[in-house]
Amino acid sequence: MITTELSNVGNILHNQREFFQTGKTKDVNFRIEQLQNLKQAIIKYEKSIVEALQADLHKPEVETYITEISVVKEIDYTIKHLQNWSKPKKAAVSWDFFSYSAKIYPEPLGVVLIIGPWNYPFQLIISPLIGAIAAGNCAIIKPSEIASHTSHIIAEIIAKHFDPAYIAVVEGGVEASQKLLAEKFDHIFFTGGTAVGKIIMSAAAKYLTPVTLELGGKSPCIVDTDINLEHTVRRITWGKFINAGQTCVAPDYLLVNKKIKKDLIDGLEKNLKEFYGDNPINSPDYARIISEKHFDRLVSFLKDGKVIIGGKTQPSERYIAPTVIDNVSLEDSVMQEEIFGPILPIIEYTDIAEAIALINSRPKPLALYLFSQDKNLQKRVLQQTSSGGVCINDTVMQVGVSSLPFGGVGDSGIGNYHGKASFDTFSHKKSVLQNSFWLDLKWRYAPYQGKLPFIKKLLG
Ligand code: NAD
Repeated sequence: MITTELSNVGNILHNQREFFQTGKTKDVNFRIEQLQNLKQAIIKYEKSIVEALQADLHKPEVETYITEISVVKEIDYTIKHLQNWSKPKKAAVSWDFFSYSAKIYPEPLGVVLIIGPWNYPFQLIISPLIGAIAAGNCAIIKPSEIASHTSHIIAEIIAKHFDPAYIAVVEGGVEASQKLLAEKFDHIFFTGGTAVGKIIMSAAAKYLTPVTLELGGKSPCIVDTDINLEHTVRRITWGKFINAGQTCVAPDYLLVNKKIKKDLIDGLEKNLKEFYGDNPINSPDYARIISEKHFDRLVSFLKDGKVIIGGKTQPSERYIAPTVIDNVSLEDSVMQEEIFGPILPIIEYTDIAEAIALINSRPKPLALYLFSQDKNLQKRVLQQTSSGGVCINDTVMQVGVSSLPFGGVGDSGIGNYHGKASFDTFSHKKSVLQNSFWLDLKWRYAPYQGKLPFIKKLLG
């Protein structure tokens, strides 16, 4: 196991600042080499990554490939576009600036801090790291201590493939985080819960450090009548129960048109059997809850409403069956907190206005899902609600599209990343205006006497 002494944090930071000052990371070819280096390291460690996630979350190998190791695709995408993204871009100037030219230069921020959560503990560290490297920064990474096996593997991969004066890992929990947050960084990229997000932002405020906060929340999933029921049920089951519901963009609760509710519930029950068999505890394809503390929190939700599917638990394995609950009240704790587990409450509506009003009465969610082929309904929901992102007629898949910036709004986060958005997040856009010497009009210079009418005409 490779760990960094917390007392060493100041040294690492100092060395990274010195390394950054050498200007090496400003060379785009260097960045591309480092991205290739990262890709090769992930490929080499594939088996160990799968094992670590199996140990932390009982994560099925297929899910680890789809949701963690697939981050390699993001490296390829970044390498393909990096030369273009890093070029200065010409900016238009208006006619009154005719002797000038303008350009925007993306430049690296410096040394950045990346703090990750436990639920997709590999991907949610590596994906922002790709952006940090692509934009030419040095980085210190703090993976989640709760997914400890994955944290150790990340530490090993980084230590074996990168100079710590360029990229380093600091392992540990709150203490490590706070030690890091006491230092000055040029950007902090945090993924985790809203409550901790506030702590991160106030620590960053001390140094005016910009932050990206990728937070969570209760993502609603509206199900209208104009759907293909079979496809809808499958896509909801997958998005909700992948990683045993411990997904920031999982549908948190369903808002279902009353007319289709019974069919939807029957469909979910049938589909769950198809995915995980009669007894999901025996399925190799179903994950476990990360820790006893999270297990206990989730079990307490089971007293809310009426369990209509699932509901079984096995504390020794931290197993909670895929569960659907009906008759919940909006005041129940399952409808107050982000669930972040395999429990799906159903709330019915008779008119879409009720569903929209409920969504708008809550903090803005990270994701909003709508199942409907009705174009007018789609337009109405898009216009009348606000969320980090929207996915129509599917769940979770929006996070896999590199051309779509991913992030929250309001309580679900600040800033975004993925693809070009990651490069932008870790870059400063430096505006450069250049004048020439062939002309020097005097209208803006003192003495001003008699110049106002002309200036009014020019700027009016
Ligand atoms: P968390 O906020 O508890 O922890 C995240 C990180 O912060 C960990 O590395 C942890 O060590 C550190 N941390 C915890 N307490 C801290 C403190 N007091 N001071 C400083 N650092 C501290 O989040 P989690 O439980 O790991 O993850 C679950 C949450 O993350 C959920 O709310 C989920 O929705 C959200 N999430 C969001 C995204 C996204 O992309 N928007 C992705 C995954 C998870």
